[in-house]
Amino acid sequence: MIPRLAIVVPCFNEEKMLKLFIPACREKLDALMTAGKIRADSFLLLVDDGSADCTWKAIVDAHLRDENVRGIRLSRNFGQQNALYAGLMRVLPECDVSVTMDADLQDDITILPEMFEKYRKGCEIVFGVRSSRPADTKSKRLAAELFYRCKKLTDPRTIPDHADYRLMSRRVMESLALYKEQSLYLRGIAADMGYKSACVFYERKARKAGKPSYTIKRMAKLAGAGLLCGAGGFSLAGCFLGAAAVQMQIGALVGLLGKAAHGSRRAGGGSADAGFCALSVLGQAGMLFLGEAILKETRRRPRYLVCDSTD
Ligand code: UDP
Ligand code: MG
Repeated sequence: MIPRLAIVVPCFNEEKMLKLFIPACREKLDALMTAGKIRADSFLLLVDDGSADCTWKAIVDAHLRDENVRGIRLSRNFGQQNALYAGLMRVLPECDVSVTMDADLQDDITILPEMFEKYRKGCEIVFGVRSSRPADTKSKRLAAELFYRCKKLTDPRTIPDHADYRLMSRRVMESLALYKEQSLYLRGIAADMGYKSACVFYERKARKAGKPSYTIKRMAKLAGAGLLCGAGGFSLAGCFLGAAAVQMQIGALVGLLGKAAHGSRRAGGGSADAGFCALSVLGQAGMLFLGEAILKETRRRPRYLVCDSTD
């Protein structure tokens, strides 16, 4: 049986990029169709994640020219992870296999046939892994390295340098629908599932047009969802600071005893007090983040809302 493929792409202010991405991706889709690897009604689903530019218009225009290009529009910006999830849930009833990728052509589409070959040989998840990322800034590479090292400590199943370029079988998508957490971290869920999987390596290219929308804040949020949660970071910082403050207090105590022996009263207490103050602030901040995370998880609000569709 020839499978029906859906390529799911989250788009946030990608009006410029879509002009390049759609034809490039369509060409790869065509090649797979011609080779008889996927069904002729395989398609591209673009998810407009509440863009402020003309992304939705670009998607609708592309659909009018080519029915294999489809789109849904979210009611506001829900973030890349939720946009990806929205797209996957949309295509789930209609396709046998999906591939998720970014709209900026940083995920090398020339490895699609190789990913597909692994799927054909029985792999249910194929991870696109960045073998190198020369286009990224030094600080971004360093942050990623640090993040994946920490992540590997808490979760040994982590696949370093895998983002969201991923092939998933229908069964994997069905399984994904069972995961109910609000703070989505799809690469972590996929790596945790345990189905037969494989990696395909590629060099991460530079963005072809438009601007990256992953700000430091957004990256921190994703890293938070991937590691423990925001509160985890504060608690960790609090632990280090607490240990430092205790050490300072012991030092101050020793100093105080020494000075007392020599007739003087106060010694080094100020720095220890400052340490305890900072610790208390961090503790409160941690509680605040924890409270917010718990509230978010227990409220169970919808992770996204769809307001328009090309179908
Ligand atoms: N994106 C999205 N919603 C957002 C932010 C980003 O759908 O709130 C999409 C974006 O259009 C792109 C992908 O997620 O297709 C990756 O974003 P970006 O290129 O900014 O991330 P980076 O390459 O810097 O990690
Ligand atoms: Mg990018």
